[in-house]
Amino acid sequence: MRSGADIPVPRTTLRVVCDIATGPSTTIGVVTAYWCERAWLSGGVSDRVRVTTDDAGFVTAVEVGEQPEPPDVRLPGIVVPGFANAHSHAFHRALRGRTHVDGGTFWSWRERMYAAAARLDPDSYRRLATAVYAEMALAGVSCVGEFHYVHHQTDGTPYEDPNAMGEAVRDAAKAAGIRLTLLDTCYLSGGFGKPLSAAQLRFGDGDAERWAERVASLRPDATTRVGAAIHSVRAVPAEQIPTVVAASSGRPLHVHVSEQPAENEECLDAYAATPTQLLHDHGALSPATTAVHATHLMPDDVALLGGQRTTVCVCPTTERDLADGIGPARALYDAGSPLALGSDQHAVIDMFEEARALEMHERLTTHQRGRFAPGDLLTALTSAGHASLGWPEAGRIEAGAQCDLVAVRLDTPRTAGIDPTQLVLAATAADIDTVVIGGRPVVRDGRHVLGDVGELMNDAVDEVWSGL
Ligand SMILES: [Zn+2]
Repeated sequence: MRSGADIPVPRTTLRVVCDIATGPSTTIGVVTAYWCERAWLSGGVSDRVRVTTDDAGFVTAVEVGEQPEPPDVRLPGIVVPGFANAHSHAFHRALRGRTHVDGGTFWSWRERMYAAAARLDPDSYRRLATAVYAEMALAGVSCVGEFHYVHHQTDGTPYEDPNAMGEAVRDAAKAAGIRLTLLDTCYLSGGFGKPLSAAQLRFGDGDAERWAERVASLRPDATTRVGAAIHSVRAVPAEQIPTVVAASSGRPLHVHVSEQPAENEECLDAYAATPTQLLHDHGALSPATTAVHATHLMPDDVALLGGQRTTVCVCPTTERDLADGIGPARALYDAGSPLALGSDQHAVIDMFEEARALEMHERLTTHQRGRFAPGDLLTALTSAGHASLGWPEAGRIEAGAQCDLVAVRLDTPRTAGIDPTQLVLAATAADIDTVVIGGRPVVRDGRHVLGDVGELMNDAVDEVWSGL
């Protein structure tokens, strides 16, 4: 494996210094070119593609059939657009490989998750999220949607900066070199008609008005957008939902929907409506909304979500890890819902695995192959995911788009001999060689600019559990 010092200086029209820690400099007028053996463009896979980017990290030109020139940064294998991880709870990564001994249920797993949440402060959260987002970058993720609900001190008292935890998430994404949509989450009750439990106090703002006031002080920047989330119909009483919807106008709004049958049963008891119907009745479903999971739906729910063009974010590796079940992904897609993908609790961070599982779980339930074409799966990972997170200018390799490039080797034991158009059914995160985000190389030769991400993660996870 080559060291970062061997990375070639990008082709430029002006002199540019390529620093592995920051990528190409932002000198005005600098143009950088990446030359791809193959690239997945809107018309399919093309050979010998040069992608030129400006100093702001946008693609200025895509040329096909070009020979590489010595200053080009050459990308091996096949280059696909950067991936959107549309649903993340960064701190859940601390639970990976620690919850499989005693069996249990989603609800017993949740108790362990609350124990991790209780250990976080802004500094430890920043360190853990930095390692998690670096792991994502290694897996080709150029943008993450952080469904963020650990807002306050453990007794519910706000930090001196009431957004200190959200700012820690922002800092982490910047350190790891990925873009962020901070989906600041309204979380008000501990269940239908129940107050927050002691473990949930730090999630709550009291009511939706106070949640909206806090979120209003969060500012977007060049690599951060601020969205909103309704944790679930369990955690936000129906009468509070319109306030969240109004405060999130013009921004992405995400919501967990029907991950577990118990949520449906309790919602029907409380409101005589399914979670999807309740959200629709209170104005929460629209093309700007993303329903996360949507696992246990009634046929009318599928029609409502599709009819509103509400995106559905499926999180297959989490849904199987937590024994949630398999949702009606193809039916939702046919009804009109774009599909996005998320690694959610990060039992796995491999977006190829999420995309592949979307198809494979359909095969298991329908006994049919080819429920989604490979291109459909890549769309979920790229343009649909980015649109769900409020970055419609990302997820494609074309002029005017964010220059997010993921080069996947085609000469590894896993990918050698495959048809490149079926990459998503064969590759893993370990096959990714280079990741360029906003024109900057964040991963080269399979190494992140921060160095040993495993060591970073080990230290951060140890910090969460130390002393217990
Ligand atoms: Zn979630």
